[in-house]
Amino acid sequence: MRYLPQYVCVVVLCITASVFAADTPDTWKPVPVVVSVNESGVPSDAIVLFDGTNTDAWCSAKSPNAPAPWKIVDGALVVVPQSGDICTKIALKDVQLHIEFREPAEVKGSSQGRGNSGVIFMGRYELQVLDSHDNPTYVKGQAGSVYNQHAPLVNASKKPGEWQKYDVVWIAPRFAADGSLMKPARITVFHNGVIVQHDFTVIGPTHMSKPVYTVHAESLPLKLQDHHNPVAFRNIWVRLLDKTE
Ligand code: MG
Repeated sequence: MRYLPQYVCVVVLCITASVFAADTPDTWKPVPVVVSVNESGVPSDAIVLFDGTNTDAWCSAKSPNAPAPWKIVDGALVVVPQSGDICTKIALKDVQLHIEFREPAEVKGSSQGRGNSGVIFMGRYELQVLDSHDNPTYVKGQAGSVYNQHAPLVNASKKPGEWQKYDVVWIAPRFAADGSLMKPARITVFHNGVIVQHDFTVIGPTHMSKPVYTVHAESLPLKLQDHHNPVAFRNIWVRLLDKTE
């Protein structure tokens, strides 16, 4: 009798295991697609937007038929101040984005005037790029902020002149057929591997004092901001996440 409790436990475990091991329609399918990563960290199913060699994936934001007016220097795409924003030729909806940036090594200006650029999803929703190393500014405008809406959870900025990276999950807003908002956009951001935005619900376009969503296409180009500072970018790619919702 003294072995009965152990026996009962074994029987219960066996029954439990058999229940969890039982095949159901989704036990073996769908099989996740195999994705490999190359030596540069680029997934095999990524769309490469800039690999250091050309700006073929980009155009002028104000003149979409014109080439991107920024310059390539030593494999980096560098903002030409006052030349204007650039945007992707393709429209994007839900994406995983990787982008690396480098603030000018020569420190000039302060607050929003130092190393300002931006990753602007759908041409409306800005993830701020700024030199936030020892550069006080309003917190909803520092690097890693959803501009004017949400400060980063921490300041993970590196020193100017050092390469940094953002890894982002962007979920686009959803609109009903009548143009009303069904679901706001959401964003998660890792800055240099540190989470700074965790599934933040975007209030609306980031350059409005009182953000209000207005209906737009479900997919739109990604924009990079010319804020008159020579910020450099490299290794830009996206993966389409259209099956996440
Ligand atoms: Mg900016």
